Amino acid sequence: MSAKYIFVTGGVVSSLGKGLAAASIGCLLESRGIRVNLMKFDPYLNVDPGTMSPFQHGEVFVTDDGAETDLDLGHYERFTHAHLSRDNNWTTGRIYEQILAKERRGDYLGKTVQVIPHVTNEIKAAMKKVAQDVDVAIVEIGGTVGDIESLPFMEAIRQMRQELGRENTLFVHVTLVPFIAAAQELKTKPTQHSVKELLSIGIQPDMLLCRTDRFLSKELKSKVALFCNVEEEAVITAKDVESIYEVPLVFSREGVDVLVLRYLHLEARDRDLRQWEELVHRVYNPKDEVRIAIIGKYVEYEDSYKSLKEALVHGALAHNLRLHASWIEAEGLEAGQHACEEQLRDFEGILVPGGFGKRGIEGMLEAIRYARLNKVPYFGICLGMQTACIEFARNVCGLADANSSEFDPATTHRVIYKLRELRGVEELGGTMRLGQWICRIEPGTLAHRIYGKDEISERHRHRYEFNREYEGTLTAGGLRISGSTPDGTYVEIIELSDHPHFIACQFHPEFKSKPLEPHPLFQAFVGAAHEHGHRRHTEREQVELEMFHRPGRW
Ligand code: GLN
Repeated sequence: MSAKYIFVTGGVVSSLGKGLAAASIGCLLESRGIRVNLMKFDPYLNVDPGTMSPFQHGEVFVTDDGAETDLDLGHYERFTHAHLSRDNNWTTGRIYEQILAKERRGDYLGKTVQVIPHVTNEIKAAMKKVAQDVDVAIVEIGGTVGDIESLPFMEAIRQMRQELGRENTLFVHVTLVPFIAAAQELKTKPTQHSVKELLSIGIQPDMLLCRTDRFLSKELKSKVALFCNVEEEAVITAKDVESIYEVPLVFSREGVDVLVLRYLHLEARDRDLRQWEELVHRVYNPKDEVRIAIIGKYVEYEDSYKSLKEALVHGALAHNLRLHASWIEAEGLEAGQHACEEQLRDFEGILVPGGFGKRGIEGMLEAIRYARLNKVPYFGICLGMQTACIEFARNVCGLADANSSEFDPATTHRVIYKLRELRGVEELGGTMRLGQWICRIEPGTLAHRIYGKDEISERHRHRYEFNREYEGTLTAGGLRISGSTPDGTYVEIIELSDHPHFIACQFHPEFKSKPLEPHPLFQAFVGAAHEHGHRRHTEREQVELEMFHRPGRW
């Protein structure tokens, strides 16, 4: 049987959570034993988001095969078992790149190359490729209906319905039903307009996921159904929830999966969402909380670190904890240890995540020094490992001008330098060390205790590496290299032995963490932070008690 397709489009405004909606539908279908794959088309002209600013685009999600993709793929992986690759994310730029290469090769010889059929054919071929070996392919079209640049994708999905018929294709439209305070009413007009826009390009949606902050009444649903020409049952209340992991449950209560099965003529077993229900129960019933400081420079743009934030949540949920993660502006810590004491003293764990460029580095170094000296659990990721090595080289090994050549190319002690394989490579697109690489872990280390394995594979995205010429100096000072590539070329994990929990890795473990399979490094870090907080709390109480009993004190 060939696969069926669910096309997810969005209307009215952007940021309605199309990606989460697609992922949640995938999750629901999997809970009924249906095999799914998910893909996203982004209508912009960049070949991939790899060279785009995190302010513009948010996180770049990296797949095992080293593709730099849209952050919605992170949702797909966290909510389903789909194994994603560069085939699961296409931009207009990449589609055109492919077509232009064919044109230059002479593949279209004699023909005029046009949007229809050449571009649309290329888009359809990409969809069909991910639909192999699954029952349902969920295809998300980025952007909002009405955008000029998304038209070829809309046309391609219109053609897919034409080719494959109603039983094999389903159009899901995510829209907004805002509550207007002045009128004390939910308004359906934007949804009506958005559907009209879709109709004008030949697409009649089958299901409307209405983003709203309250339940849509039966009357309202029937009004939307009438005006938008969908069944009343197919007007779904996609109500805002506190935790994204509740979305599949919200959809299941609205009967989304039942409708999908009916529309697509699919047979499936009963849904089994017990694991998700149990997870959501934990989200809302934590036994305690944990406070983590994330030191970064893109603080006001949480989207830049979507997977990181989720991985921390997963780590916290594994211990039944509520996560309080605060973003601390790295530049604000440059004043030194006083500034750190002032801003970081109430946190139980400190994390320096990945990042690029010089801004904020000195502040990160101060935060790391603070974590090292005060025995606060530290977790460094990518840039957070590189800065941990620099801090150690400067403040423990006495190499005052230790640095990365990324921040100071002229420094004498380049503890971090450009990847040897990248020397001379000037092009920026797709040229980093990307994707999955194997790392061998040293027995007897914290890393080994955490993973419980000798060999792991994790995802990378970096241009600089630890300079092994400094290995002797740093290890003599007490730093331990606990993970390296099997051939010994690259340092992958470092840690400090005289610290309760100080570990940093060159890879990005956040990309592989899932709510139902929390990543061991995040789980261990959050656990250590919580323990540290508990210990500190007891110590502070002890001090207060002693003060109280000290004669003459009061
Ligand atoms: N800027 C550093 C490098 O290119 C770190 C990259 C990262 O944190 N993703 O190696």
